[in-house]
Amino acid sequence: MTQISELKKNIDPDLTGAQMHRLMEKLYPICRSITGDGVRKTLDIVGERIPLSISEVPTGTRVFDWTVPREWNIRDAYIKAPSGERVVDFKANNLHVMSYSVPVHAKMPLSKLKDHLFTLPDRPGWVPYRTSYYAENWGFCLSHEQLTQLPEAVYEVCVDSSLEEGNLTYGECFLRGERPDEVLISCHVCHPSLCNDNLSGIALAAFLAGLLRPLSLRYSYRFLFIPGTIGSITWLALHEDRTRRIKHGLVVTGVGDPGGFTYKKSRRDCAEIDRIVEHVLKHSGAAYEIADFSPYGYDERQYCSPGFDLPVGCLQRTPHGKYPQYHTSADNLEFVKPAALAESLLLYLGVVDVVENNGLYVNTNPMCEPQLGRRGLYTAIGGRSDSFDRQMAMLWVLNLSDGSNTLLDIACRSQLRFDLVREVADALLQHGLLRGEPSGRGSGA
Ligand code: ZN
Repeated sequence: MTQISELKKNIDPDLTGAQMHRLMEKLYPICRSITGDGVRKTLDIVGERIPLSISEVPTGTRVFDWTVPREWNIRDAYIKAPSGERVVDFKANNLHVMSYSVPVHAKMPLSKLKDHLFTLPDRPGWVPYRTSYYAENWGFCLSHEQLTQLPEAVYEVCVDSSLEEGNLTYGECFLRGERPDEVLISCHVCHPSLCNDNLSGIALAAFLAGLLRPLSLRYSYRFLFIPGTIGSITWLALHEDRTRRIKHGLVVTGVGDPGGFTYKKSRRDCAEIDRIVEHVLKHSGAAYEIADFSPYGYDERQYCSPGFDLPVGCLQRTPHGKYPQYHTSADNLEFVKPAALAESLLLYLGVVDVVENNGLYVNTNPMCEPQLGRRGLYTAIGGRSDSFDRQMAMLWVLNLSDGSNTLLDIACRSQLRFDLVREVADALLQHGLLRGEPSGRGSGA
């Protein structure tokens, strides 16, 4: 099972990073929210790359303790000065309107309008991102610089939106593997023109699904493109019995900024996916941090709620809230770097490689060491620059393959790379020195 490592070698990071960035450029102008046509348009574009099945869940559907909200759509919004000039214009930047703003058309003095204006005094040049999903309100977001320059006057405000019975929309790409056991990759699609938080995850998930699709995989892979929080709650409520099949999962978001990686562990703390990601990061050469689970953050909050407790972590770069551009107009196409996107995609592929190839084997010759030289297993490795590591890997695999250690366990304990451990395990299998199907994967037990 070397197909994923082969695939990784054939990826040109410059080209792939540029393609991922281009997909984000296409998605960037769309005004998304937790429901509405922005999500549909986004899924249409993602659906040009990978097969996506779209679900529409009607307003009012009870999903555990929540209810699918009314659908929000917006056509136009502005603040007009007495001169008729649009001083704040939704069409110039969709962040100018607070998401889920109810319709309004009125004239009011600046002093009253200010109750509905949001700025970032600390970052006076940036426009904040604000939402009001569950409280009926309307609002505009603008730079603090602009607010301080607005003269006292009576302004015309207009939000041409609708909040009506409709649907919550999500997309799913399912890749059927040899087994019904599933790997879940989940990203949110509910933010408007924000790049790292939202679009980078969509781009990575779409490219990963595209790369895995032609491969013959052991696990089945389910990619979810869902609105944050209410989307994962809805999906879990509608597929409660199917969640038992989820053996590994990752929430993908914030994978395009130039910072190092951060892996937030699942609630289980030492699920197989937690150990796999930590191992891949350790050997990646990239800067990284491992964070413990906390019931805050992205949709891992729902996947890791106690009733589900799924083995789902969050693999990102700089965590949300830890970079100043987060939830502002500065989280834009310049902030996300093609090189960072490509590096993140390759890291995810490295994780999938271990997920697919971890296995449990038994040494068929456990009474003292088998004679490797007689079988040509020493000569086979002579002359390679990594021959010492390969020899050590062989000895570790033979020693620890007693039926209780997976290849990942052996890689972790020996401090050797997983792909080297797997490679020598393949050689030992061919020589009959190991037996057993790679069946130790999956449960993490
Ligand atoms: Zn966000």
